[in-house]
Amino acid sequence: MATNTNLFTDKETNNWFKASIALNVTKHGLTNFLDIQLQNVHTIVRRGCGNCPIEKLIPCPTNPYCNKRKRNNCPFHKSQKPQPCPTCDNVKQNIISQHRYGVPSLKNTRAEKWAHDYWEIGKCYLPPDGYSSVSSVQESDFNGVISIMLNCLYFQTCLSSSCLSPPPPDKKCPLEKVIYCKIKSVFVYLVLCLFYHSYLSVFAKS
Ligand SMILES: [Zn+2]
Ligand SMILES: [Zn+2]
Repeated sequence: MATNTNLFTDKETNNWFKASIALNVTKHGLTNFLDIQLQNVHTIVRRGCGNCPIEKLIPCPTNPYCNKRKRNNCPFHKSQKPQPCPTCDNVKQNIISQHRYGVPSLKNTRAEKWAHDYWEIGKCYLPPDGYSSVSSVQESDFNGVISIMLNCLYFQTCLSSSCLSPPPPDKKCPLEKVIYCKIKSVFVYLVLCLFYHSYLSVFAKS
């Protein structure tokens, strides 16, 4: 662990700085691509009615949203009781079908915006916690951008399968200790992401 006095000369700390900058650059490189593709995802899953909050569209109890022990006083369904809506139920089902593992982060999304806001559809493919207040692709971080691209099956149609299925992490080299040999593979992966983005931009214009 580097002390304060040699923070900027420590190789491991510097590798973290480089990785952090690379993550930011890659995230900015992918932002426009993701923004456009999410509009296509919105077309595929269709539009909601504009009146249903997500609480209405999730039966009670449903894991992990409801508290089973408080079935008659569920905190999640406190303000809105479940109520079928053919239009929004269809959108919800399409969102589930487009999720690689069938478990979209519905708690992240405001379903009443499914009618007009493609980002509220995109939020269903983010990690389950920490993103509910993020209001755009631009505001999201690298982890969010990559999560959407990995979790949403639509991206299989515009990215290479090797890019979507990176090899499992090396247990001997956990991410919390980025050593020289591994920082290079982090860069290679990020450059690959940008390469595919550039390739797709050229391809889209041709
Ligand atoms: Zn409930
Ligand atoms: Zn509805």
